[in-house]
Amino acid sequence: VWEYAPAPQDADFAEVKEQYDLFIGGKFVEPSKGRYFKSTNPATEEEITEFAEATQKDVDKAVKAARKAYEGEWSSMSGKERGKYLYRIARMLQERAREFAVLESMDGGKPIRESRDVDIPLVAAYFFYYAGWADKLEYAFPGKKPEPYGVCGQIIPWNFPLLMLAWKIAPALATGNTVVLKPAETTSLTALKFAELVKDCGLPDGVINIVTGAGQTGSEIVNHKDIDKVAFTGSTNVGKIIQKSLAGTDKKYTLELGGKGALVIFEDAPIDQAVEGIINAIYFNQGHVCCAGSRLLVQEGVADKVIQKLKDRLETMIVGDPLDKNTDIGAINSKEQFETVNKYLEMGVDEGADIYQAKCDIPENGYFIRPTLFTNVSQSNRVVQEEIFGPVLTVQTFRTADEGIEKANNTPYGLANGVWTDKGSKIFKMGSKMRSGVVWANTYNKFDPTSPFGGYKESGVGREGGMHGLAAYIKN
Ligand code: NAD
Repeated sequence: VWEYAPAPQDADFAEVKEQYDLFIGGKFVEPSKGRYFKSTNPATEEEITEFAEATQKDVDKAVKAARKAYEGEWSSMSGKERGKYLYRIARMLQERAREFAVLESMDGGKPIRESRDVDIPLVAAYFFYYAGWADKLEYAFPGKKPEPYGVCGQIIPWNFPLLMLAWKIAPALATGNTVVLKPAETTSLTALKFAELVKDCGLPDGVINIVTGAGQTGSEIVNHKDIDKVAFTGSTNVGKIIQKSLAGTDKKYTLELGGKGALVIFEDAPIDQAVEGIINAIYFNQGHVCCAGSRLLVQEGVADKVIQKLKDRLETMIVGDPLDKNTDIGAINSKEQFETVNKYLEMGVDEGADIYQAKCDIPENGYFIRPTLFTNVSQSNRVVQEEIFGPVLTVQTFRTADEGIEKANNTPYGLANGVWTDKGSKIFKMGSKMRSGVVWANTYNKFDPTSPFGGYKESGVGREGGMHGLAAYIKN
């Protein structure tokens, strides 16, 4: 059943409970201190539900449940049987795709067109892909006896809540590990809905445990003595804290961190196609994308033309209700992130850049930001160097390919870049000289379970996706 598109389904509404407990040992359990925190819909600022605040005691309980499952039925199960569970999860996700898409958009603010057509189909695709590896590990690693680490602590961010969960859980289970996963505090809803699905699919208790809470809960998972491997996706700042706290322990880790991708447009590029590529690179998911192309580097001869076409294109974009199928840019994920992006908008102006924002209407309530361009910036500006994580693009020019490469590489990050050109030779040159885990050519933000993904420099350690992602969950 190799099916990317969501299957048809019955559910025509997405049920949200008033409160969600922790998912530990196959059951929903109350947090030990009985505390819950509120979750709001960023498009309306209305409260959606409450999530449990896990304490150290709860984390310990989850790790024990994961250990028990690892040492019990799960570790003696054949890869073929493990694969069957992953296939089942993938199929159930497809069956409930519409419900998951609606919840993802309500909870996180992303346009329904993206959750429906990108996030949820990819979630299923990652489970299908790793399901296929579960009984073929000896072929993936010839000459080795592939052994899982044991209990993995997994911590994920809020920009692709269910997709990041899939990137973490699918390879971990395919290789025979068990997991304790913490979703981000602003977007825990689909992880708990996923827990309901896990329960329905009959996965042995404790193989997947989901604990909700703030950064402190994440830190307790990372530092729990019985965690064998940590997989973290989030900001570079927190990644550095985690790396320091793991130094000197024998825990293995992968870190998927921030980015500041460059889009290098050469004069020979098909310009209209490149402009669409830019729109997708920076305004997809409100720019809350680690690999977002947030810096445009355009060759001088076509700069005026590209900038004008880009400005014209921005005027056609619809910013608003994430649940409306026509929406291009939804809500900024949280009040905190809304304030961060606004701070960068002011900072860019203070640094002397020219700001251009589309003149579109935006709703009165909720956290919305018009698509924004900064021109007249220099390489040392903070808006060029730092990850804004919002719908904000900086624009610079270059003359030669070498200058383009130098500017593209001149930030602390190295997650993804893109190049637009008609010449294959330039694609190869840029691909080998730009220091990032991904270089897209004449496209951007394309994901596939077979492709490894990860960062150079301060964008991270290790790879997820493809066989590299599988290797990240077995002992060397
Ligand atoms: P964040 O680092 O603030 O939080 C990420 C997760 O870590 C959350 O679940 C949070 O609760 C938890 N956390 C916070 N402090 C912690 C601590 N001290 N110890 C352990 N866990 C802790 O990041 P965010 O704002 O949620 O996400 C945005 C960031 O994630 C961006 O920088 C983005 O580039 C990055 N990201 C990277 C990738 C990638 O694959 N490289 C993918 C998506 C997002």
